[in-house]
Amino acid sequence: MISPVMPTYARADLAFARGEGAWIWTTDGRKFLDLVSGIAVNALGHCHPALVAAVKAQAEKLWHCSNLYRIPEQEKLCQRLVETSFADAAFICNSGAEALEGAIKACRKYHYETGNPQKTTIITVEGAFHGRTLATIAAGRQAKHLKGFDPVTPGFVQVPFGNLNALRNAITSEVGGILFEPVQGEGGIRAGSEDYLRGLRAACDEFGLLLIFDEVQCGNGRTGKLWAYEWAGVAPDIMATAKGLGGGFPIGAWLATERVAKHMSAGTHGSTFGGNPLACAVANAVYDVILAPGFLERVQESGKAMKAALQGVVARNGDIFAEVRGSGLMLGLACNPPNGDLYAIGHECELLTVPAGDNVLRILPPLTVGKAEIEAAVERLEKVAATARARIQAAAKGAAQ
Ligand SMILES: *Cc1c(COP(=O)(O)O)cnc(C)c1O
Repeated sequence: MISPVMPTYARADLAFARGEGAWIWTTDGRKFLDLVSGIAVNALGHCHPALVAAVKAQAEKLWHCSNLYRIPEQEKLCQRLVETSFADAAFICNSGAEALEGAIKACRKYHYETGNPQKTTIITVEGAFHGRTLATIAAGRQAKHLKGFDPVTPGFVQVPFGNLNALRNAITSEVGGILFEPVQGEGGIRAGSEDYLRGLRAACDEFGLLLIFDEVQCGNGRTGKLWAYEWAGVAPDIMATAKGLGGGFPIGAWLATERVAKHMSAGTHGSTFGGNPLACAVANAVYDVILAPGFLERVQESGKAMKAALQGVVARNGDIFAEVRGSGLMLGLACNPPNGDLYAIGHECELLTVPAGDNVLRILPPLTVGKAEIEAAVERLEKVAATARARIQAAAKGAAQ
């Protein structure tokens, strides 16, 4: 008989009961080092005291109230998102895919209102991941996500990663925007070069397109700047974010410049839950910490220390790990054996990592990690490599006999 939980996930047989910082304990008391952070969600680690306090305080005042009314916590959050980004307005929603849906709608609406209603197509890039709704699987264009869910939502075309010629060739009179993750997460921790990002901006300006960044995973301080696009100094017209924004509370947002946002007038978009007082109070508490002086500089330093430590692991275990990718605390270990095997061995060694495309294991610790967690990461990854090596050698010996 089928499990009452819909069988959509290939779950590991681990159940967690509590967490603190970068550490998480199973229901049967095993202590794991968490280098996943709920896939870049628990930006401040588990049960950060400031977030616990914010949830408690807001829970005793007001949880939910409709967007029929003004919501001061939401106004504060939007104000901060605007002040700390390229944008002039923000819409608060509940998840990454939902943020992308809003971003896509804003792109179409802009062209509709500015005399180009035919500009409904958005160009995306191979290896992209934008979510699991019907429009976002069409945007990501991964066969394994689309299969069985025809008809594919129209309005998206895809070009190879990093190739500006291919991208410019794909621009027809129907194209209205380019959607890009400054650092691909699910795709295997692949960053667009500064030149590539500048090329995207130039193409948008030349052909009257809107540049949409998906910073659902790479935003909110993950790369050591609040927004990953800041590294290249290339601002989009629209941006989607989520994951780390709520530090573990479900919340997303999409942001736009005034030129785009002004067309999203009353009645054009909405959400029942999006931006409620509880979610926004938590996100504001996350931002109190992330925006405090010195926090992002510390993320950059820990990111450098973690990357150097991982490079040491690769140097000592070149048969198992091929290279380290990424920046800040959005890192990836390219693997030689299948990443799924190393991910599973990680669980035996009380270590949580997450597989990504391109045979990569993602290393996404809380932004608060320090020296002790970096040392623990190295120790456990060495154990993973040694275990994998022993199994590969045992299997080779078995095959030879
Ligand atoms: C996770 C992710 C999404 C989808 O977010 P959900 O909250 O799962 O809907 C979209 N884009 C990127 C880059 C992501 O990493």
